[in-house]
Amino acid sequence: MDLDFSEDEIRRYSRHILLQEVGGIGQAKLKAAKVLVVGAGGLGSPLALYLAAAGVGVIGIVDDDHVELSNLQRQIAHTTARIGVAKATSAAEAALAINPEVRINTYPYRLTAANAIGLISRYDLVCDGTDNFDTRFLVADACALAKRTLVSAAVLRFEGQLSTFKPHEGGPCYRCLYPEPPPPGVVPTCSEAGVLGAVTGVMGTLQATEVLKEILGVGDSMSGRLLVWDALATRFRTVKLRPDPGCALCGPEATIRDLSAHAETSGPVCAV
Ligand SMILES: [Zn+2]
Repeated sequence: MDLDFSEDEIRRYSRHILLQEVGGIGQAKLKAAKVLVVGAGGLGSPLALYLAAAGVGVIGIVDDDHVELSNLQRQIAHTTARIGVAKATSAAEAALAINPEVRINTYPYRLTAANAIGLISRYDLVCDGTDNFDTRFLVADACALAKRTLVSAAVLRFEGQLSTFKPHEGGPCYRCLYPEPPPPGVVPTCSEAGVLGAVTGVMGTLQATEVLKEILGVGDSMSGRLLVWDALATRFRTVKLRPDPGCALCGPEATIRDLSAHAETSGPVCAV
């Protein structure tokens, strides 16, 4: 592991290096890590900013959307001046302004059944900040097939959820929790039901924290647990999740072996 930090890097990361659980070795792990952020919206904004600030060496950002005025109530990586700019480019600009030492790869296009596994395989870990079930299931399936840890969060109105999926290490996958996408129109999206902007910030920041813990190998993983936050009641609950032996993605008789089922349904990476 390369522990050769410049004086500026030592100063930049000094509050990390002071932590016994991080130290120089942990900071070197962060520098060597490659994380893919899917969706540069309300969750992806704090994710991209905190991962860059933390010194995660390579950060990929996938989003095929452009910044709109209605995004700015919660998507804090973007600015009024960047309305109309590709969200992946805008988020990269914000992250690099905080930390020019990290590398940001931007993918200003749609994640599809054709490109998902290739893209995900280039990274160690994936975090999902999208707002539509087609993309969520595509990311979850691609991560399980490519054996990549997925740190997933979702928000709606005043509620947030978070879990980490590592079926390749024996934990449950996303489909153990949600076997199939709900029929269209049953579960509203944020663009239909609304979301308090700060709720996305909290959940994206929790997601960034879990990503950093997974890279550092410290603390208790959220694999096998689902965090549910009710912001109106200010109540956090943790629910145990177990692998489903009948799961079509990670069970012993799994039927999902590739992404062919997504070939026609992959929608845009529409971030929260
Ligand atoms: Zn499963």
